[in-house]
Amino acid sequence: MAGQDKTMEVRLIENGTVIDRIPPSALFKIINIMGLDRDTEHRMTIGTNLESAAMGTKAIIKISDRYPAMHEIDRIALFAPEARVNTIRNFTVVEKRRVEVPARIEGFVKCANPMCVTNHQPVETAFDVVSEAGEVVLRCRYCEKITRNFGAKPDTY
Ligand SMILES: [Zn+2]
Repeated sequence: MAGQDKTMEVRLIENGTVIDRIPPSALFKIINIMGLDRDTEHRMTIGTNLESAAMGTKAIIKISDRYPAMHEIDRIALFAPEARVNTIRNFTVVEKRRVEVPARIEGFVKCANPMCVTNHQPVETAFDVVSEAGEVVLRCRYCEKITRNFGAKPDTY
């Protein structure tokens, strides 16, 4: 994609957020994290399998008048560690933020250990985010088991 096209896409929003550099495979997780599938209020444009010089292909989400909260950005980073969150005001990019994979994540993800207390008691899950052979995985603070290929716990977002 030419730089000029990219600028034009961003300019379509007066105020809001552009989340760029999303791996296409993570797009629907991010839609879920932000509740966009149930959002009937904010105007949004979602593109996927777009050409990206940096990534091969990418997805992009543009939302008017919606600014993700820090806990949403932390969750986005788990699935899209290269994502950029750009804040648009008056058709201008006023902030370009790289997401950062958080050190801890609470709630949202289900522990992979079927015996874990969080799967039997009304206890919110809590994980340390650790790197294992270059892959981001989660270590449960209750049972210490590693959860990988994590999806979202559907009842907590
Ligand atoms: Zn556990």
